[in-house]
This record gives sequence, C-alpha cells and structure tokens, in this order.
Amino acid sequence: MSNERGTLLITAGPTREPIDPVRYVSNRSSGKMGYAIADAAIEAGYHVVLISGPVAIQPPPQATLVSVITGDEMFDAVAREILHADVFVMCAAVADYKPRSASPQKVKKKEAAWMLELEPNRDIIATVPRGDRVKVVVGFAAETHDLEKNAQEKMRRKKCDLLVANDVSGDASGMESDYNAGIIYVRGRSPILLERMPKRKMADALLKIIASVEESY
Ligand code: C5P
Repeated sequence: MSNERGTLLITAGPTREPIDPVRYVSNRSSGKMGYAIADAAIEAGYHVVLISGPVAIQPPPQATLVSVITGDEMFDAVAREILHADVFVMCAAVADYKPRSASPQKVKKKEAAWMLELEPNRDIIATVPRGDRVKVVVGFAAETHDLEKNAQEKMRRKKCDLLVANDVSGDASGMESDYNAGIIYVRGRSPILLERMPKRKMADALLKIIASVEESY
C-alpha cells in the first residue's frame, strides 16, 4: 500500500441514529464527495483510512475501510484513527440530532401523534481530541444561504485549516449529485472559488490545496 505522503483520514456519508430496531434519523448524504477524496488521495500517494457511514457506493479497494452507523460510533472511530493521521478531512454529514433514547423493540403504530425527543449529536471535528500528529484539518459546510459568513464562523469554531463550503440549495450540485461547486477557505489566504465540476475533479483540486498547506508548515 502506498503511503509516500503519510496517512489521510477521511470520514464520509451520513450517520443513522436509531429510533427503534427498524427506524432511524438520518440525512440525504450519499458519501460521493468523501469517496472521491479517498480515491484522489490514494492516487496522490496517501495511505487512506476511510471512516464511512452507511452508503450505497463501493470504497476504493486500497483504502482501509472503517464502517460505522451512528454519530457516536463515528466519534470513537475518529478519536482512534486520528492519532495515526497526518491529514484529517471531516466530510461526513453527521446527523445533527439523535433520539434521546432508542426503543429496543419496534414502536407500534397508533392513531395518535408521536412526539420524538431529539438531542444534539456531539460535534466531532470541534471536540474530538486530535493528538499531536495531525497537521492539516479540513472541514465541510453544506449551506443554503450566507455561504461566506457561515463558512468563516464555522472555520474558527471548528478549528479548521481549510473549509470547503458548498451550496446545497439546488439539485445541480451538492448532496446526492455527482457534481459539486463551492468555495474553499484556507486560513490566511484568499478564498478559492470552484465552479460546478465532477466531485472527483473537485477532490483533485482539494488535494492540491491540502498539499500546498502541508508544504507551507
Ligand atoms: O455545523 P455543520 O454540520 O454545518 O458543520 C459541518 C462540518 O462539521 C463538517 O466538516 C462535518 O463533517 C462536521 N461535523 C462534525 N460533527 C457533527 C456535525 C458536523 O464533525 N456532529
């Protein structure tokens, strides 16, 4: 396995937060962007560890795959793997909320309304202990409005070196699509605008920027 460039840890896909054995809270993430970055990173010479939520696409065979379901499982997997990573890309769409408690048995359908109590999931990128090894941290921000303002604030709060802000307000790019568009914010540099392009091409562009940030340290 190639690892000339060191280890790149990437998370991808959604998480599923169980309500009962057959129901869950989740989102529309397909994992396509994260898997494209995993692919591009392997081509660029990284050893890739891919922590993935449940998706319907195949991982690159050269990646070390760690499959998880819930946000808490993803938190634990990141906390373990980040200690061996040089670059950390948090691309997964962690479910923002999880049911306060999951029923061990299927909840019976009734006529009455069902009130589900949700609590926030832990923010992995903001709170996971990062260890000393990881040099570059990349976050994502899926926004429908105020792209720039939200991205800058998120970058500070989540302590990222790079933040990829993508507009998910339309169907032409973003979630589930094979295409993406957005702005890459790099700490201390001017933002880089990426026109709509295939996710694999965007992954190559991102990898080039990551390499230039790594080299500048
Ligand atoms: O706050 P928001 O979900 O928009 O932030 C997006 C960034 O934060 C992404 O990099 C995402 O992977 C990460 N995130 C996280 N843990 C969460 C929610 C989001 O690491 N619980």
